[in-house]
Amino acid sequence: MRYCARCTFPENARPTILFDEEGICSGCRTAEAKKQIDWDTRERMFRELVAEYKAKAREKGQPYDCIIPVSGGKDSHYQVYLATQVYGLRPLLVTYNHGFNTRLGLRNLRNLVRSFNCDLLRVSSGLDTVRRLSRYMLRRCGDVTWHYHAGIFTVPFQVAVEKRIPLILWGDHARSELTGQFRLEDMPEFTNWCRQQYDMRGIEIDDILADPESGLRRHELAPFTFPDMDLMDEIGIRGVYMGVYIRWDALESTKMLMRDWGFAVHPGPREKTFNLYHKIDDHANEVHDYLKYLKFGYGRATDHTAEEIRSGRMTREEGIALVRRYDSVRPSSLDLYLDLLGISEEEFEAAIDDQRDTEIWERGADGRWRAKSAIWKNDSVTSNMLEAARLPLVAEADRTFGWNNRHLYYSDIHEPWPHADDRFLVEREGPEFVLV
Ligand SMILES: [Zn+2]
Repeated sequence: MRYCARCTFPENARPTILFDEEGICSGCRTAEAKKQIDWDTRERMFRELVAEYKAKAREKGQPYDCIIPVSGGKDSHYQVYLATQVYGLRPLLVTYNHGFNTRLGLRNLRNLVRSFNCDLLRVSSGLDTVRRLSRYMLRRCGDVTWHYHAGIFTVPFQVAVEKRIPLILWGDHARSELTGQFRLEDMPEFTNWCRQQYDMRGIEIDDILADPESGLRRHELAPFTFPDMDLMDEIGIRGVYMGVYIRWDALESTKMLMRDWGFAVHPGPREKTFNLYHKIDDHANEVHDYLKYLKFGYGRATDHTAEEIRSGRMTREEGIALVRRYDSVRPSSLDLYLDLLGISEEEFEAAIDDQRDTEIWERGADGRWRAKSAIWKNDSVTSNMLEAARLPLVAEADRTFGWNNRHLYYSDIHEPWPHADDRFLVEREGPEFVLV
């Protein structure tokens, strides 16, 4: 397996990654290109775009200028902060509730509604539907969180059609970010094609209904059924990524949101990453991420170290040590999911047998899978390539585990950040399925 000369990504990273002649991946190149973007011009474009939709909504006497899909995480907070405090919009917040919420996530969602005084519309799937859909999708495509992505990228459009609100404001363009699949220079917008191909893994509602194995009924799949395209066109519905127009700095915005708007991060160590502010609102991420490791040999610590290295906050060597520590960890929340799905761990692993990348995994005579390749075992990068690809580092205190970031990244060096509010500590009691 080849690994990026700058970050920690392997060449088999999903959904797609490209390496150039210097051995540097497309995600690293996109991060470089992002620094060259003329953000002042982009911001002016966004201001004009927003003014146009705001004027239209007020002309029609509509109560809302736009829809903001939210989970309650740091990006949701930043989207709503920008919309209400900087651009004077009146958004309707829309959440698809997948049932895999952490208490911290629900606390942050409440904080979002309260701090920015916005209306929130929440569509919840029944837990039994979630159970059967997750079990079916684990077997069909090795993903227990299919409904989660499908709902998040469908429900806001249903609400947009129903309420005739043409503008949907998404946050950062995540696909350009990690593996550089899209270029921000191209000003990507939301497309139903991307939703179907990536978020829903090419599986549409009619495919599920046509498969007798699924046992699911049309009304149970309602939150994942995309509205009629002609109706969408008639209303002129558009999904805009704010991160295409506004420089998205997750670390800086999280600090501001904690300081001024009551956003809370994970209070102590996490099982699958050192990062305490990414994806803290649902516990399914751990299992989703573990499945990625079982299939492709890498996990969330790879994603998170890549981001740190590209920002000059971490060396590649430090990143590799963290990948080694976290990526292969079996999350304790897996037990909760096995219980929900009503299957054994052997059945869980067997469901993805044919999806294991054999460049990474080999099966021993005893039938057990072993990882034969990992960045910390057989790194393909030579020292010349490594030094040529290296980025300058930021000041010591601003490094990942530097003093200024001690509440945002867990390390053995600093004590966990003391939260003023004890309610966050309930997180340590372990995950459960919380719907309300
Ligand atoms: Zn890279």
